[in-house]
Formats: sequence, C-alpha cells, structure tokens
Amino acid sequence: MRRQIVVLTSVVLPLAALLAAAESRTAKVRTTPARTADLKVRTTPEVVQAFPPPLAWRSGELRRGSPKRQEREGGRPAGQSRPPEPKGVDLDALDRKTDACSDFYQFACGGWIAKNPVPPDRRSNGRFTELQDRNFTILRRIVEAAGAEGDRRKAADYYAACMDESKIESAGLGAVGPDLATIDELLNPDDLPVLVAHLHSYGVPVLFRFGAQTDRTDATRQIAQVDQAGFALPDRSYYLKTDEASAELRAKYLAHITRLFALAGAALEKAADDAKAVLGIETALATAALDRVTRRDPAATQHPMELNELQRMTPNFSWRKYAIAADAPKFQAINVSVPEYMKALDRLIAATPFADLKAYLRWQLLHESADLLPKAFADADFDFFSRTLAGQQEQQARWRRCVTQTDERLGEALGKAFVEETFGPQAKTDMLQMVQDIKGAMRQDIDAAPWMSGETKKAAMVKLDAVVDRIGYPEAWRDYSSIRVTRDDALGNRQRAIEFNRRRNLQKIGQPVDRGEWSMTPPTVNAYYSPDRNNINFPAGILQPPFYRAGRDAAVNYGGAGGVIGHELTHGFDDQGRKFDAQGNLRDWWTASDGAAYEQRASCVADQYSGYTVAGDTKINGRLTLGENTADNGGLRLALMAYLAGPGARMKDKLDGFTPEQRVFLGWAQVWCETARPEAERLKAATNPHSSNKYRVNGPISNMPEFQKAFSCKANAPMVRQNACRVW
Ligand SMILES: [Zn+2]
Repeated sequence: MRRQIVVLTSVVLPLAALLAAAESRTAKVRTTPARTADLKVRTTPEVVQAFPPPLAWRSGELRRGSPKRQEREGGRPAGQSRPPEPKGVDLDALDRKTDACSDFYQFACGGWIAKNPVPPDRRSNGRFTELQDRNFTILRRIVEAAGAEGDRRKAADYYAACMDESKIESAGLGAVGPDLATIDELLNPDDLPVLVAHLHSYGVPVLFRFGAQTDRTDATRQIAQVDQAGFALPDRSYYLKTDEASAELRAKYLAHITRLFALAGAALEKAADDAKAVLGIETALATAALDRVTRRDPAATQHPMELNELQRMTPNFSWRKYAIAADAPKFQAINVSVPEYMKALDRLIAATPFADLKAYLRWQLLHESADLLPKAFADADFDFFSRTLAGQQEQQARWRRCVTQTDERLGEALGKAFVEETFGPQAKTDMLQMVQDIKGAMRQDIDAAPWMSGETKKAAMVKLDAVVDRIGYPEAWRDYSSIRVTRDDALGNRQRAIEFNRRRNLQKIGQPVDRGEWSMTPPTVNAYYSPDRNNINFPAGILQPPFYRAGRDAAVNYGGAGGVIGHELTHGFDDQGRKFDAQGNLRDWWTASDGAAYEQRASCVADQYSGYTVAGDTKINGRLTLGENTADNGGLRLALMAYLAGPGARMKDKLDGFTPEQRVFLGWAQVWCETARPEAERLKAATNPHSSNKYRVNGPISNMPEFQKAFSCKANAPMVRQNACRVW
C-alpha cells in the first residue's frame, strides 16, 4: 500500500495505466468528509543560522524560500587518517608569509587553503566540511550496524533502500508513475487544488507553500500560512536577469527540463514544448515573488487575514477543496505572506492553458524525485543543478548522499544514536559556561551602548534575560513508528517520511507552539537562533574541533564555539531579530530615535559588505547578508569580551607565540578556512544570507580596534577600517 491519494466526491483521480504498470502497487483511496475551510502550511521557522547550510540553494528548509534538499559538502574521503587535533591555534593552517594586518584570513588560513583544494565531488571544502565528514563517518557506522531495532532500524532500512541502486534502476518510474498518470488524466481545472494538495503532501512545492507558522502577534500559538514557492532555479533573479550569462543559464535549464521529460517518455518535440511552458510558468511565479532582501523584513511577509479574504483574493483556486484534500484542521486565520504573489498566481491559473499547468506539475514531480529515480534521471539532475549551477564536478559517494538523506528525513532516529556515541557531559558543561559568560558580555555591551536610551536598554535586557539556550539535542525524541520504511523502495520511503512531517506540521495549525522542538538534527554542523521562540540552539554535531574541544586553550574555544554562541545571541538583536520581543512576538520595543540610530549603524555594515567581491566578479549583497554580518561582528566581539572577563583574566601567557587576544581572533578565523569553486561563490552570493568565509573573518576584525591593538597594526593597514562600523 503506497501513499494515500485523497479523493473528493467530485474528482476521481485516475490512476489507470501506469498504476497497473506499477505492478502490485495500489493506491489507497480515502474519502475525506467535506469540511468547512481549514488550513495549515508548513512552518517557516525563521531560523537564522550561524553557518551556511553548505550551499543553501538546495537546502532543505523552506525557510527563506530557498529550495529544498541540502546537499552537504564533505571533505576528506572516509577512512583517511587525520592529523591529531591541535591543542590551541592550528599552526599548520597559518600562512606566516602574509602579514596579519594586510589580510588576516590569508594569515590564519593560507596554509590550510594551500593544502586543501576543492575535491572534484565538492562545491567547496572547509573546516565545516571536515567536521561534517567526521560526523557522517559516525552516522554511516550507525546505519550500517547489524541488529538495530526500533527507529534506529528504520533509519538503517531507509539508508539501505537509498543505497540499493539496482533496485532503484529496476523500479523505473515506479514510485512517480501513478502520479504522472493522474496528472495526465486530469481533465477538469477545478480539480487542480486536489492535485496540488496531493503533490504538497510529499514535498513537491508546486505553485505555493502551505503549512503552520508561529502567529507573530501571539507567539504562543500557531496559525496557517501560505507563501510563494514552486520555481526550481535557486533564486527569482535567475529568471529575470537579462545579461548574457543568465540567458545562457536559462537555455541550459530549458534543455534540462526537456531532457527530463524525454527520459520520462515524452517525444522530443512535445518535451521541448512542455519545457517552454514550464519555464514560462516558473518565470511568472518568480516575477510575482518577493525578493530575498525584501523578505528579510518580517513586516513584508506579515499579512494575517481570514480565509474568506484569501478566497476573495484568489477566486480561481478553491481553498476549501485544497484544505479538505490536504486534510488540514479547520482554521480561519491565515498569514498570506505575499498577497501580491497569490493574486498573480490566481491570474496565472486562469490564463494558462490547463495542458501547460499539467506540464509544470509533471516537471516539478520529476525534478523533486530525480535523485532517487534511475541513474539517467539522477545524472541529469546532478549535471544541471550541481555541475552547471555550483561547479561540482562529480557526485559525492553514494553512501554520503544516503547518509545525508537519512539524516534529513529520520534525523532524530539517527541523532539519538549519534549523541550516545559522541556527546559527553563535559561539552555541555563547557558550553553552558560559555553561554553564561557571553550573555554577561552582551549585558555589558548593551549597558555601555552610547547611542541607546535607558528605556530601550531596559527593554533589551528583558529580551536578553529571556533567551533560552539549548545544547546538544532535544529532550524528547520524535517517534517515527508510524512511518512505513522498506529496504526496497527508496523514493516511496522518502515520500512517506515527508508525508509524516507534513501531517505533523498541519496538525499544528491552531495549536500552541511546542517550544521543545528543534529545527536541526543533532549531527548537524550548524547552530541557530529562533526569533519567534527567542532561543539559541547548538546541535551536538558542532560541539567538536575546530569549534570546541574539552581541555583545549580556552582562548581558541572562545574564538570558535564562543564566537558561534555570540553570533546566535546577536541574532536576537540584528535588524530582523530586534523587531521581535522577549516572547517572540513581532512588536516594536524601541523608541523611535533609538530605532533610527540602530538603522544608521546597520547601514554602515551593509555598505561595508557591499564593497566586497567574490569569485573575481560578483559583489556581496550587503542587505541580503546584513543580519549574518551583524551577528558575526557582534559574536566575535562578545566572545572576546567574555574570554577576557573569564578565563582570560587569569591567563596572560603567550602560547605558540600568540597572546591570548591574538588566539581568540585566530580561533574565530580558523573555523572559516575554506576553498570554494567560483560557481559556488556566485551561487552563494545570490542566495545565501551568509557572506563568503573570507569576509566573515576580515569583515568583523577590520571593524575592531581590539584587533588593531592585538596585532599592532598601523592605522592605515588594510585590516583597519577608517570608517569602522559597530552595531554590537
Ligand atoms: Zn547566523
């Protein structure tokens, strides 16, 4: 029994031809009683990450409207031996021929960079990827171990099915065949909402996204949300830019869509015509979509209304049908993130030939499934989305891709085993101590800010005191027992796992927020701040070298892990975070003049980073990266303050030839050592809210008189900005 197809009385989803071909599979047909409008949408948790989900355009979280799956990058091939972890600064990573005051990133990382070119199967290679590889090797051992039971067994089966290439090959279009047939045979445009709900149920993000979201006016509750989605290129700008390189890229995209249609059995001419229709529809969606910079302002995506109002706005799409088909709980309130997008979508549905819309749905289904379809599909998908768009030359080893997928879909099943194996009590104790120290530094920093009034400072302290910190892993583990996982159905497993998550998400509509939930799995090498929950979160996966090591020089731990803590804490007070209050409500707690002073300071940072170039020809977008850059600047400063007031107050000696202050700066810099392909750098600049790693180092340190002093830089040195910016 495969996934469920929801059928309305008026619609019979025909699963005829290909369903029969899909051997014994039968689709379970379920009638859902008619119900008045309800809704829900997948959560957009507004997660602000410290670290680049390595190449975020395919990154799973629909947060920030960025695409889906996360293709992590790794580093060293598994099993290759590693040098022992240094006790402090990584001296082998240094480039002593470069002056720290001319290019600190090169000074701190030049040795590492020279020894670590990007392997053919990566887009970039960095300290994060080294650590990710280490975690993946552990996860691989966990999923390949014999005798697993319960959810761990489920993770092992999920992984095994993903690894079984010959089964995937022989299954052909099996897992998507019935749905392709359904799309083909759909005759009545009025049934579109049912089909859209069905595709959404297993993660095909056609036309828009729907789910649950924290109510920004009452952060204890969740409401329904509908948002823009459904164009497969990494950013709306890829559809709209008129330069030659962009036009060429779109021609390649068109060829890729054509190829996928042809592989799925279409005659070449029909495939080419359909591809053009797809590009036309995605271009229309992208045109109507709000750009990433505008979306950074929470007010720009805050348009709560009654469902009836949304229905009046979009007369050509029945939300009642959609909600019933999606099996959403009843609801009235919905946040329509981008009303203009929904209006344009409605016009598009009315004006587009139904055959073209069907081509679009087929494409999206094939695209989302391609990596678990036969090799020809997976290779084509890799060729365009990874090689052309990101410069990656070869696929990663299959085991690594399958570990990634298992982590994405059954992350807490794997995470529990990962934590048992890797996470000691010392790490938690040390982290909690650093968090306390860094919160203390932030308290001091706010108190000393000359540009803030007493009134706003008082409100800021209330928010700071309310920040909840979470280290390592969730207190309650997710129960995956209701997901059916088999060792011979990779794509079906994924669809069922996504359906499970979707159901969980939709059931949240109208319910209180569960503050115990995590948005990242324990093995993740990353961290995040959640503005609507006012908490900072550090998965077990990141609490390892080079960020942190028990017993290592505290200056380096503070520069690495401490900087990360400071980064996340600062997010609560960056240009987005400052708009949320201590409880996570979107509420202005600033006096007008303090708000204006803040924006002026933030503009300085935006202008600074807009001046940086990557890949020789691409400017960083200072407004897209403003929150992350603010967090980097604040994070490093707070880490230094906390170190000097804490362990640094007792430790004055040089180690390895560096003073304590110098080692804090090196600790920060050396977590960012990275090599990256130019395509990947350009992609990051267009889509990722984080700056290129070089500027995550040189940006903050050049704003800090503490750095100038620590390395005795001349006033006119390149690492000393004349117009130093400072928010925190
Ligand atoms: Zn961040």
